[in-house]
Amino acid sequence: MIDSRARLEELISKLRARGHRITPQRLAILKILAKSDGHPSAERIFEQIRADFPTTSLATVYKMIATLKGMNEVLELEFGDHSNRYDGTRPYPHVHVVCVNCRAIMDGEIDRQDVDPQQVAARAGYRLIGHRFDVYGVCPDCQAGSPG
Ligand SMILES: [Zn+2]
Ligand SMILES: [Zn+2]
Repeated sequence: MIDSRARLEELISKLRARGHRITPQRLAILKILAKSDGHPSAERIFEQIRADFPTTSLATVYKMIATLKGMNEVLELEFGDHSNRYDGTRPYPHVHVVCVNCRAIMDGEIDRQDVDPQQVAARAGYRLIGHRFDVYGVCPDCQAGSPG
């Protein structure tokens, strides 16, 4: 388990070190990203903070995410026609389990790294930039028939 409180402190100190001010709105966004429960979209983060910060815009959320992306402190998962989803807890490539029904996303548990991206890239003569490993399925809630 990742300690979201420790992760939040880490994000705050890294932002401060780069001269970013931690406004109450930014703090609220960071709290959600430090936890990244279910890998929220920017819209989802916006929905969660707008009650407390009615003057905040979706652009504020995107700006915060862009800043963290530039620092490699958030992982962006792109989904064609769907909104991008974010993981501020583990900002490095890792296995995700994606529900094709309700779009829930969880971190996958694996015992060892079966695929070595460095090796795959090297064999093809590529310089490795990153990798992604998604497992698609139907989550327990959807299997149980509860509406997504
Ligand atoms: Zn589901
Ligand atoms: Zn993740």
